[in-house]
Amino acid sequence: MTKHVTKHVFITGGVVSSLGKGLTTACVGALLETRGLRVRIQKFDPYINVDAGTMNPFQHGEVYVTVDGGETDLDLGHYERYTSVPLSRHSNITSGRIYQTVINKERQGAYLGGCVQVVPHITNEIKRNIRQWDGPDTDIVLSELGGTAGDIEGAAFLEAFRQFAYEHGRDNTVFVHLTLVPYLRASGELKTKPTQQSVGILRQIGIQPDMLICRTEKAITQEMRDKIAMFCNVEKKHVFEERDVENTIYELPLVLNREGFDDALIRRLGLPEGQANLDAWQQVVHTVMHPTATVDIAVVGKYVELKDAYKSVYESIDHAGIANKVEVKMHRINAEELTDENVGKRLRSMAGILVPGGFGERGIEGKISAVRFARENKVPYYGLCLGMQIAVIEFARNVAGLGDANSTEFSKETTNPVITLLKDQVSIRDMGGTMRLGAQPCRLAEGTVARAAYGVETVQERHRHRYEFNNEYRGRLTEKGLVISGVNPELDLVEIVELKDHPFFVGVQFHPEFQSKPLKPHALFAAFVKAASERHKAL
Ligand code: GLN
Repeated sequence: MTKHVTKHVFITGGVVSSLGKGLTTACVGALLETRGLRVRIQKFDPYINVDAGTMNPFQHGEVYVTVDGGETDLDLGHYERYTSVPLSRHSNITSGRIYQTVINKERQGAYLGGCVQVVPHITNEIKRNIRQWDGPDTDIVLSELGGTAGDIEGAAFLEAFRQFAYEHGRDNTVFVHLTLVPYLRASGELKTKPTQQSVGILRQIGIQPDMLICRTEKAITQEMRDKIAMFCNVEKKHVFEERDVENTIYELPLVLNREGFDDALIRRLGLPEGQANLDAWQQVVHTVMHPTATVDIAVVGKYVELKDAYKSVYESIDHAGIANKVEVKMHRINAEELTDENVGKRLRSMAGILVPGGFGERGIEGKISAVRFARENKVPYYGLCLGMQIAVIEFARNVAGLGDANSTEFSKETTNPVITLLKDQVSIRDMGGTMRLGAQPCRLAEGTVARAAYGVETVQERHRHRYEFNNEYRGRLTEKGLVISGVNPELDLVEIVELKDHPFFVGVQFHPEFQSKPLKPHALFAAFVKAASERHKAL
């Protein structure tokens, strides 16, 4: 029997950032999985933050939380949505984490007498991470590198990738470079020079890409592919086009498969060819293309100008649209613009209202106005994390008569702190990785909306917060009609609140958006969009 070798695919990006490298990596993973291959995916991020948890969504988009409570780059969300690859905090490796490990070792005396350097100490630590999943259970590891070829801060990673390929054998490693072939409107031409130059940067440091995926708005001619192949020193059959998808991003696995990318990749790696089965993806695309209605949903938040800040939320709503065979039109509304006076005008035509997670005081009163509108006018409401806390504050103020009810995150002086700091958060001073994080159990009460949607008694959902429903108010709020439908059985923390006599009013302390997939929409999102579809019919 031949010895099992785990194969490695490195995915780098060139020319510009935001080419959709994470999405492409995820789709490659999906295609390999449909052939029965066992895949692992990881992301190397050159920034110095130890994890993404301390970064502002304005700067870096959503912080994606893994099952084990890792606060990671949003590309990991793509990986989980498109594949069944198990991910954890170890799946996102930043420069900060690499340096932290090396520096800690240095302090412990692991390199006594030595001068600790980028090469070999940092590169060795990167290589150790590259091969962390190697073994008989893994056929292929996909390693994506954040940033763009040529970035100073990515240099150590590329050097480590090069060394790794040299050691692991070129037959067992593939370098895939995702690049841009821009279209110049004025001259009506596609241009290959930026691609040649970015491949040039890789070759300078000793990496010869094996396969190129060319992002483009227009079809690339064979002549152009031949030219790219020649000047980038890549085989003609290994130049692939990834044209902007016209209808939905769920087409991307189909697009790459049509281009023959997965076939070529496994052939290059000498893996059993198998047959990609894309029926499920085809079905998703068909459903997205043939919606039975268009449902308007408002997302009331702080970071609405930025699509990436609530990435998983928007994606989950789309998945729920698929589950209900409707198209969801998202209206991103800046909470700071909402008041009790204008909320009716702004939200009247909406079939559903969602308030996502968030931190800090800005926009809070506007969100409370949105919740009040949803509660009083029986508009389906779905609150995630902060959106649940807001729902509790609104109920306490306007139904239970606790006029100054608030979260102590926003008002230290309130006499009715219905949301307070979690007990074990009180003495925490460090900001990185110290929230209540990761998957926790939640027990669902019988006869509730949540229980009906999930259809089981206990679920696991992921958390990322410091504040929580104050149990001292449980009696007073439930007396007035607030339903506590989900509780953490170990800590007795309130995880889900809802209202009776309302088509759908659910607030969850966790982040269900981290567990929804196009092929497996999340039950609560699906129930929310179902309720919104019903309201849409009545509007
Ligand atoms: N700021 C709130 C808390 O820390 C909500 C957090 C969130 O929405 N992720 O509890």
